[in-house]
Amino acid sequence: MDAQATKDTPHDGGATARRLLLVGLDGATFDVLLPLAEAGRLPVLAELMRAGSHAPLASTIPPITPTAWTTVFTGKNPGKHGIYDFRELDPATYARRPVHVDRHRQKSLWDLLGVRGRRSIVLDVPFTYPPRPLEGLMLTGYGTPRTPGTRFTYPHDLTGLLPPELHDQIRVALPAHAFDRSRAFVDEWRAIMDGRRRLLAHLARHEPWDFFFAVFSITDNMAHVFWTFLDPAHPNYERAEAPAFREAFLGAYEQCDAALGELLAAAGPDVNVLVMSDHGFGSIYTRQFLFERLASGGFLQYSGGQLNVRGRLLRLLLAAYTRAPFLREMVKALRPGGKQLLNEGLRRTGLMPENAAVDTARSPLLPTDFGLQLWVNSRDRFPQGPVDPAERAALLDRASAHLRAATAPDGQPIVAATYRGAELYHGPEAAAGPDLIIELANFYRPDGGGARNPHLEGGHTPQGIFIAAGPDIARDARLPEPALVDLAPTVLHLLGEAVPPDMDGRVLAGLEAAPRPVRRGTEPAVRDDQRETADFTPAERAELEDQLRQLGYL
Ligand SMILES: [Zn+2]
Repeated sequence: MDAQATKDTPHDGGATARRLLLVGLDGATFDVLLPLAEAGRLPVLAELMRAGSHAPLASTIPPITPTAWTTVFTGKNPGKHGIYDFRELDPATYARRPVHVDRHRQKSLWDLLGVRGRRSIVLDVPFTYPPRPLEGLMLTGYGTPRTPGTRFTYPHDLTGLLPPELHDQIRVALPAHAFDRSRAFVDEWRAIMDGRRRLLAHLARHEPWDFFFAVFSITDNMAHVFWTFLDPAHPNYERAEAPAFREAFLGAYEQCDAALGELLAAAGPDVNVLVMSDHGFGSIYTRQFLFERLASGGFLQYSGGQLNVRGRLLRLLLAAYTRAPFLREMVKALRPGGKQLLNEGLRRTGLMPENAAVDTARSPLLPTDFGLQLWVNSRDRFPQGPVDPAERAALLDRASAHLRAATAPDGQPIVAATYRGAELYHGPEAAAGPDLIIELANFYRPDGGGARNPHLEGGHTPQGIFIAAGPDIARDARLPEPALVDLAPTVLHLLGEAVPPDMDGRVLAGLEAAPRPVRRGTEPAVRDDQRETADFTPAERAELEDQLRQLGYL
């Protein structure tokens, strides 16, 4: 790849000024998308793949929404932006709070484009709340508290740009309904997508822009609720309601395809288009497995564990929940009120097989809510931590070996890999990051081969999708293992702008039909404003935790 250092001069308005449309389908996977496209159900995406190039897209490790999207729009690894999870742990008190994007000072694509006079429209992109002033428009996505008076757009009043019938679209694109297996949940998402389709097309047609970035979360949300009805290896596949739920889930991809079609029509032909997902989706072992496995090795301690009888009872319950799919199905089928009662009961008795019940004073490791990232509870990082910092390396070795030795009933490994924080993350926030990171194996086989495995459920997987098409894009390019971190530099390059020196990703080689040299900027993409780091109000924090509960994350 050619590279030449140039000054960060404003864009010269030359032949490289072609506009760019970036569309995210949260959690979309080729395992679903390709068979649907072949069946003729995704005409717009199929045409983009035919006219351009596509490849699997490596997510961040772990493939978690806040980490992944922040990497997309900064072009930086989590060691620089420090967004490791939905919530973060206060080392002094062990309290967990929703992570605030003001935590990082990394410039986003629209910050970089704005100073060069390029205008961005940014809609429904997760973890962009609170919106800062930008050259363009923004309506923030997942991670926006829906509390009265919360300002989630820039400029504050967008209604002046819209005809009256679109005024009710100035809202966060997230259902109010519980994420449950109900027609009402599906219908609410359908209605949101219908409104979004009209809003996006209107803005793309009537507002000036150089960079248009929109994300659809429906593909992720539907997968969280309905995935087991899609996997032929899961017993749910043949339940009476399965065909309807399967269709609801596949319909989400069709709605995205239709919205994308209208957006492309509104944008006009002279636009480069990138479609991507922040991670894939697939059948993985239940996440409760991780907590049970770690507890059985002594790496997690639960409150109440000091009482022998209670500890044994806890162990038994954890094992039952992990091994008995009907129990999990019962919990999933509960109405929201019943689920809340059950959760409260488990929490009160200290029998919740999750993070809330970890005894932080005694537990050698501290997991995130998913259990995919773990911190050593050592005294040098956590003032009350029980672990001697000198024991850290040996403890991590033992925990890794214990996790990697776990196998499913059919003998397959459950954990695909474990990583140390230092292997994955580099930058000023790397030291605050997790010590051990777990990658689960993905068991999904779209052709349906293999024995029934009732333990599998839907979850995030490391490979998302990448599709590119447009006047500057090569046809059937062989792309060298594209990753999320490559998107920001690639977007800047396609827009004719220089790539800042501190972005970790590369401009994707081979993507352009007629490759131009990559221009390297000299100025780091870090904001220098001295603004105090903001935090959520108690009401906003409570609302965000409700959203995480709604998704089944807490
Ligand atoms: Zn996601």
